[in-house]
Amino acid sequence: MSEQYITSMKKWCDDILKSYEKSFPELARNYDVTILESWKNDLFQLQLELNETSDLDPKDVYRRADELFTTFESYFEDHREEPQEQDRIQNQTKPVPIGGHTLPPLPYNYDALEPYIHQEIMRLHHDKHHQSYVDGLNKAEKEMQKARKTGNYDLIKHWQREAAFHGAGHYLHTIFWSVMTPNGGGKPAGMLMREINQSFGSFEQFKQHFSEAAKNVEAVGWAILVWSPRAQRLEILQAEKHQNLSQWDVIPLLPLDVWEHAYYLQYKNDRKKYVDNWWNVVNWKEVERRFHVAQQVRWKPF
Ligand code: MN
Repeated sequence: MSEQYITSMKKWCDDILKSYEKSFPELARNYDVTILESWKNDLFQLQLELNETSDLDPKDVYRRADELFTTFESYFEDHREEPQEQDRIQNQTKPVPIGGHTLPPLPYNYDALEPYIHQEIMRLHHDKHHQSYVDGLNKAEKEMQKARKTGNYDLIKHWQREAAFHGAGHYLHTIFWSVMTPNGGGKPAGMLMREINQSFGSFEQFKQHFSEAAKNVEAVGWAILVWSPRAQRLEILQAEKHQNLSQWDVIPLLPLDVWEHAYYLQYKNDRKKYVDNWWNVVNWKEVERRFHVAQQVRWKPF
């Protein structure tokens, strides 16, 4: 990368950092500080690499700078919109105690979504079905706590299944209520709209793909628009039932592959020995790093 380009990029970083510092008090009124700090960390990372690495790819540097700029810009754009309740609440979150999940209140009246969704559905769906997921998740969490204390894991498979089934139900319904509103419809704006266009071609194509995915879920389940931090793209997923992908509103930190292909050549059918030995190769530094980043995502607890 040419000396000149590096110098100009460094200057660009300095300048945008100055603008950031200047507008920080204003931005902090509408955005959680962890969101803003995480943007600043990305900028620092770029600055660091510009100072210390000689073989940076100019295209990559440009892409990152462009992303930083777009994100920074969007912080102002979104000011005009009413800040989301969840954004404001992020700072005040306390962890849910084990077995202490609660039913979130419906953010509107039971009949608010009529004529599209009848109030009787809303009443049953929220008060009965969602409540039973909450109760089931609490029960499973307490039973697993009991197992940890006593060391008796005879029923662990049952309670893990219960925790996945009811946990997925609780977390997905909590999101579901909040993504509906009596004044809904239309199209998204800003960064999300840009990302939908990039990921799916157009809003119309996204809507059709999502609808088809939903109509074609086998038996029961969900269609879900997700952000993939790995692909850094939006994706549409189908969840048959919902527990098959575990609790959904969680971020994996430490996965252990127990498919036979992961150990059979060496351990034959002795999965137990494989699992016990596996602890010798865990890279805790990487798990710590994932945990650190994942911790920045905090929703209001229920
Ligand atoms: Mn439901």
